[in-house]
Amino acid sequence: MAQAKLTIDLDALCANWRSLDALSQTETAAVVKADAYGLGADRVAPALAGAGARTFFVALAEEGAKLRRILGPGPEICVLGGHMRGDIAAIREARLIPMINSIDQMLCHVEGLPGHPFGIQLDSGMNRLGMEPAEWSALRDIALAQKPFLVMSHLACADEPDHAMNRRQLDAFRAMTDGIDAPRSLSATGGILLGDHYHFDMTRPGIGLYGGRPFAEARHVVTLRIPVIQTREVQTGETVGYGNTWTAERPTRVATIAAGYADGIHRAMGPQAYVGIGDAPAKILGRISMDLIAVDLTGIEGTPDSVELLGPHQGVDTLADWAGTIGYEVLTNLGPRYARHYIGG
Ligand SMILES: *Cc1c(COP(=O)(O)O)cnc(C)c1O
Repeated sequence: MAQAKLTIDLDALCANWRSLDALSQTETAAVVKADAYGLGADRVAPALAGAGARTFFVALAEEGAKLRRILGPGPEICVLGGHMRGDIAAIREARLIPMINSIDQMLCHVEGLPGHPFGIQLDSGMNRLGMEPAEWSALRDIALAQKPFLVMSHLACADEPDHAMNRRQLDAFRAMTDGIDAPRSLSATGGILLGDHYHFDMTRPGIGLYGGRPFAEARHVVTLRIPVIQTREVQTGETVGYGNTWTAERPTRVATIAAGYADGIHRAMGPQAYVGIGDAPAKILGRISMDLIAVDLTGIEGTPDSVELLGPHQGVDTLADWAGTIGYEVLTNLGPRYARHYIGG
């Protein structure tokens, strides 16, 4: 094995979709923006469609056009970024449904593609995307008369169940949408776990499908195996890697493995991080380089062919904690240099 190998378990992915689906009485969509959180929309989206997902969300019209070629004509594809100038051809040809975020986007849509389906995204307090309550008041009757596919908003703090923001956004969303005929959606993974009140007519999980927090029961989806290139004995007092940041306090057997920060392995996690060798953890030594990482083989019998950086023993959130980031960033940073291997599906 010369190249690090990323294995994506499509059966676990689909099991996660089904588990999240079972937590609500309403339709469960699937969020596959950013190439399915870096895992490959060309394999992930068809597997999820096979499991029963009928509505997919992407961030940009370009992603939607690509996804339409992957999924064929059946599923609905919603674009969270809405209708941006220049998107008319992609939205029409790929039959995408833009989530309209402003009066400006609404004008762009009705002028460019009259009669074409759309949804509405409302801002319920996050102040990122969506119409403000005042904009919505001005547009509401005209927009609702055209039967939007969905009226949605997004929660800022759903990964913290006790955060007061959740209730505030729920109240704001209800104040803007109670009594309308159009289907409503408020929750991503975190919101699904907050309970029925947050489910409305459709949920939109992303990270939970891919095995990340806050969906604690998620099955493990991604395994990353990195080959050992070379091993050596390092004597007491010698150093390993750039900047001499690690010094051997005793004779130490060190393996050099073939991946680094150019593969999306966060350099910042260096001194806290481990890899798995069989069942045993092995510490990462010194700085993570662009293409190489040193690993402490103390306590390991023999010389392994490869080590596991992501696996059942340590998932994306463990790495994220070491690097001071979130599982979403670990996933979406996984680089193009891996041999990608899909199982199940
Ligand atoms: C990314 C995103 C989602 C999915 O969120 P997760 O936390 O990954 O489940 C849902 N809705 C919107 C608007 C998003 O931007």
